[in-house]
Amino acid sequence: MSLTQEEGILLRSHAYSESSRVLRVLTPGRGVLPLMARGLRRKVGRGEGAVDTFDQVQIVYSFRPQRDLQTLTELHVLRSRQALGSDLLRFAGASLLAEMLLAHALEEGSPPLFLEVARSLDRLLDAESEQIAGVLISAGWRLLAYLGFAPELEACVRCGTGLDAVEGTVATPAAARTEEGILLRFSSLQGGLLCEECGHGSAGSRLGPGARDDLRRLLAGAPPTPLRGSPVHLSLLEAFALGHLAPRNAFRSVELLRAALDKGGG
Ligand SMILES: [Zn+2]
Repeated sequence: MSLTQEEGILLRSHAYSESSRVLRVLTPGRGVLPLMARGLRRKVGRGEGAVDTFDQVQIVYSFRPQRDLQTLTELHVLRSRQALGSDLLRFAGASLLAEMLLAHALEEGSPPLFLEVARSLDRLLDAESEQIAGVLISAGWRLLAYLGFAPELEACVRCGTGLDAVEGTVATPAAARTEEGILLRFSSLQGGLLCEECGHGSAGSRLGPGARDDLRRLLAGAPPTPLRGSPVHLSLLEAFALGHLAPRNAFRSVELLRAALDKGGG
């Protein structure tokens, strides 16, 4: 039986028995890895060997493809992200990323995705308070993109018309618009923005040029600070992630996030 050593990010941990825990660890080589950890009963809040959710860890494990649970033999914390736990918005944001990864049940390794998740967690940790909403929603969109579900923002998802051109044209009298410009539908189901024509009678949120531009910046990893209408952006992300990752249950962290964003007036 061969042992593998890899870096990882602890996404979830729960008690399995008196003396064991089951850990879900994101790894660059094997995606989300379910690991049986014997003798790791205590969720060790402090002291040496303490490991918290979202910590960057070094793990050693034995792998057999036919097994549901792999066996963890060693774990060392490389970078603690314990401080995420002391701020509701940061913690709920990190939890949403974990929930999305677990919903996807990623079984293939992807070093770029792994790096992106690590970077997003560090950004959440380091963000100033007025940046957090933008940082966490940006991280969610980018994770979706890395999982293969980037929303289409440049061309109509139905007919392919470039949307930059639409921005420049004079809207027909019937067109829905605000003072700042034309409103276009964003359809989670169809995977992105619809041009004016295709948007008629379609479901989906209507976004003005400002909100569309913010969405592009979120996806590019350059979130606006502060993010205007962050509860609306959270709802867009949630609907898109639910539609494309199809989790068994709704994302529990979204409720926490929504409450925290509403309170902050984001
Ligand atoms: Zn169209």
